[in-house]
Amino acid sequence: MAEVQGASGASGKLVIRNVGLMLSGALERPILDADCVVAVDGRITAIGHAKDLDTDNAKTTIDAKGTALAPGLIDSHVHPVVGDWTPRQNQFNWVESSLNGGVTTMISAGEVHFPGRPKDILGLKALAIVAQRSFAAARPGGVKVHAGAPVIEKGMTEEDFQDLAEAGVTLLGEIGLGSVKAGDEARQMVSWARKYGIQSTIHTGGPSVPGSGYIDKDVVLEADADIIGHINGGHTALSDDQITCLCERCHRGIEIVHNGNERAGLLALRTARALGQLERVILGTDGPAGSGVQPLGILRMIALMSSLGDLPAEQAICLATGNTARMRKLDCGLIEPGRAADFVFLDKAQHSSGKTLLDSIRLGDLPGVGMVMIDGVVRCGRSRNTPPAERIPEVAH
Ligand SMILES: [Zn+2]
Repeated sequence: MAEVQGASGASGKLVIRNVGLMLSGALERPILDADCVVAVDGRITAIGHAKDLDTDNAKTTIDAKGTALAPGLIDSHVHPVVGDWTPRQNQFNWVESSLNGGVTTMISAGEVHFPGRPKDILGLKALAIVAQRSFAAARPGGVKVHAGAPVIEKGMTEEDFQDLAEAGVTLLGEIGLGSVKAGDEARQMVSWARKYGIQSTIHTGGPSVPGSGYIDKDVVLEADADIIGHINGGHTALSDDQITCLCERCHRGIEIVHNGNERAGLLALRTARALGQLERVILGTDGPAGSGVQPLGILRMIALMSSLGDLPAEQAICLATGNTARMRKLDCGLIEPGRAADFVFLDKAQHSSGKTLLDSIRLGDLPGVGMVMIDGVVRCGRSRNTPPAERIPEVAH
């Protein structure tokens, strides 16, 4: 077993061979004709057939044993607080447990559950900077948690957004969870954030828990945030005509979450697909939240989109990998040269009635995770959380 290293550790040359199905994460070409991936120091350098690639002198060789290789999954919507603890349900190790569900990257939609979360401008900026620094320096289970997403409040000025950007903040927490709830006010702050390279997400739908807000389609359209956060509500969804209108009239990201209204999520998927804009759809859990933590939430969303949304499984996986990486400007999420060597090895779960891995997902079963790698380093073997995979990869040396 390869040694677990920190974010900056050089993992040397990695060769993954005998891949049975290469899932690229790219919607335009979700399956690659390849059985081998080579990476050096955590970056993919080559993909193809082993006989055509330079596989000599690898520090680590993984025999995939015919399993499928996909980019590590990305959860586009989480609410971390500090380390691997969530006060919302007072649980530890929820990030590491999600690693066992194939998740290698998470994106904070605000550290909203921080006890006594500061709401004054200096305090909220300070918290965002602390969260960004803390998760960048300490990665639970090796998972890349992009945190430091301030919940914006009334009275913030352009200078505040400039300060945040200069301090390394790249995200806003869900707009609408703080005092900024009006479309015009949100629009101004979104444009300041955008000017300084900070990506924005807006809460969509009814209040999540007592104290959060209701945001309808008119506010979402006016605010023009980069991501329509949980278009299927978190939990309470907008009406069907409002969801359809958002898909049609706004060209921003369409985020569908596990902790939302599943029927509304399927409506958003079908609408985006009918528009020929599936590349806008990304998946998240919105956990930890009132409904708990969901270590298998992203896998469950992939199975939902494929089974009830009639989406080929190899495309459903792209919604949680390549689509999110492109929209969020991340260096992972795709099996292509230059990208981070973040992988999940999948196989059909034991006793699934599906004939193949993809068929089993299409039937609504969860796949079994056999191994997860981040930055070219093995972070977990057979998942303790998914149903057992029929086959699992092995570290050859
Ligand atoms: Zn929300």
